[in-house]
Amino acid sequence: MTDIRSLYPEELKTVLAEMGEKPFRADQLFSWLHAKKAASYDEMTNLSLTLRQKLAEKYPLSNLEAVDCLISKLDDTRKYLFRLADGNVIESVRMKYSYGNSVCISTQAGCAMGCTFCASAIGGKIRDLTAGEMLRQVYTIEKLTGERVSNVVMMGTGEPLDNYDNSVRFIRLISHEKGLNISQRNITLSTCGLVPRIYDLAKEKLAITLAISLHAADNEKRKKLMPVAKSFSVPELIAAAKDYFKETGRRVSFEYSLAKGENDSDEDARALGELLAGFPCHVNLIPINPVKERHFVRSGHEQTVNFQNKLEKYGINGTIRREMGIDIDGACGQLRRAFYESGS
Ligand code: SAH
Repeated sequence: MTDIRSLYPEELKTVLAEMGEKPFRADQLFSWLHAKKAASYDEMTNLSLTLRQKLAEKYPLSNLEAVDCLISKLDDTRKYLFRLADGNVIESVRMKYSYGNSVCISTQAGCAMGCTFCASAIGGKIRDLTAGEMLRQVYTIEKLTGERVSNVVMMGTGEPLDNYDNSVRFIRLISHEKGLNISQRNITLSTCGLVPRIYDLAKEKLAITLAISLHAADNEKRKKLMPVAKSFSVPELIAAAKDYFKETGRRVSFEYSLAKGENDSDEDARALGELLAGFPCHVNLIPINPVKERHFVRSGHEQTVNFQNKLEKYGINGTIRREMGIDIDGACGQLRRAFYESGS
């Protein structure tokens, strides 16, 4: 069944034309679904009752039910556990920054990528989310908090480039001037490195930031952390990142989660420095979040700063990610894991 929230305005025109409606109704419907974040057709009072009934029958609106919400007492980070219409659950997180509110969305229920340090990999992939389900995470959080969201990061559960069409739709819809109108410059898509899809994404000419989860500069080391590295090597990945920059003019970010004794040595920093030297990019250093099913231990602060300093010698701008909501932590994806483990 088509998720009507995933449709572009032109596609809504076709849907409505088939119901014998004039094109301007599509603008009204789009505005209700996106700018006004309507949860039901009943709210759409400028559409006739007959049309609303027809739409409800053919394109039922599904909403997200918040089954849990953890709120940080330190910085008001809010971690939501949402139930989808089919009963699967996903996580979304709202973070407050000086520049505005940022929401981290999930793009799939579960994930097929199998990164060894990640909680989302544990149960495998269940299914792709529709663009509408991604949008709804942002809309629902705006409604629940009563606060505007200015930034979106596609860094929750799932691999956005393994759900390519829906992820691109999501970006175009959330940045649509007649929808929530979040600037594409304020959207980050994070990928574990599906190289062919990075080339495709560059051609979409979106103004978003591409973040690449690298975690190791050495190919053999990366293979041990991220199975995707068996399909696409580090040099292939960097070539794709360079193409992305060339095509879009947008600086690529690299994520590097530091795990003690795994990828945080001086040698690791040197390998990363040599790999990225001369490429205008940004490196986000993230102390790894221990996942209880995994053996990884986070690098200490001193080691992290040392790693950052070593990178600087290669002219690479690395920042240590400020951690949000540490009192409600447990790595990303663990609220969802706990839900499944408790057999709810
Ligand atoms: N699949 C995408 C987006 C989701 S993961 C990707 O791989 O980029 C978002 C980020 O969190 C990635 O950089 C991922 O490698 C990182 N991550 C996952 N588990 C983590 C953990 N336990 N500690 C620190 N970072 C983690």
